[in-house]
Amino acid sequence: MDLPELIKTCKTERRAFEYLFNEIQEKRGVHCPACDCSDYYLMNEKRLRCKNCRRDYHPFSGTPISGLKISVISFLLLVKLFELEISARKASTQLDLSYPTTLKAFDLFRRSIACHLAKNDILLKGEIEADESYFGGRRKGKRGRGAGHKTIVFGILERGGKVSVSILTNVKAESLMNETVKKVRRGSIVYTDKWCGYDSLMFCGYRHLNIDHQYKFKQGKVYINGIEGFWAFAKERLMKHHGISKEKFLYYIKEMEWRYNNREKVLFVDLIHIILGADL
Ligand SMILES: [Zn+2]
Repeated sequence: MDLPELIKTCKTERRAFEYLFNEIQEKRGVHCPACDCSDYYLMNEKRLRCKNCRRDYHPFSGTPISGLKISVISFLLLVKLFELEISARKASTQLDLSYPTTLKAFDLFRRSIACHLAKNDILLKGEIEADESYFGGRRKGKRGRGAGHKTIVFGILERGGKVSVSILTNVKAESLMNETVKKVRRGSIVYTDKWCGYDSLMFCGYRHLNIDHQYKFKQGKVYINGIEGFWAFAKERLMKHHGISKEKFLYYIKEMEWRYNNREKVLFVDLIHIILGADL
């Protein structure tokens, strides 16, 4: 659904409610919090009555909408503006919501995405590119490997498939191997740059080929341009946030992973279900 269509849907709270309620009904149903029964009487947009135990409950109880204490209209529009990568500052002005509420909602959306990714982890396989990159830290200083105050992100990309990122505390062989073994099927070919931390890959069940960036960036199939494309994608977007705290950084980079892996898709409806289905 595009923004003008959504604005039409959100003309009244009742219509916004109906839209969201139907989405939830279709995807996973509504369940009584007391007895889990999915049959109910619809009393009004604030109340359902369980046909089994007769208890009244709010249709979105236990979801982020009740936690954020915002209307369904505001919730749907916030999800849309987040999908469109509007900053929390701008979204709060456009929707006339307080900045802390908007930021809380966006943080929650990011945590929901990270939770969704963790639940749906799959092993990457085939031709893999692995690389690390350094994020954050506006202070000038060392760049690249060993840049103390920066956050180290390790990225693995399956050519023609998905990217998966994690945060590391160092780029020693042990850390790089542990992550690779967790995420990449044995027998895959792993392409990296010349960093010695990757030398042990061949002892972990992988075929390892590397390229020395000092001399060239591509030799036949040996290159890591795919994962470098992801770094550019993520850095361009994260720059807009003007500094992200270390505690929250994981959620921002996971958001980037999700956006990159779904960059051909319209994300709005998926995002609603990710948020409402997250066990945070
Ligand atoms: Zn019940």
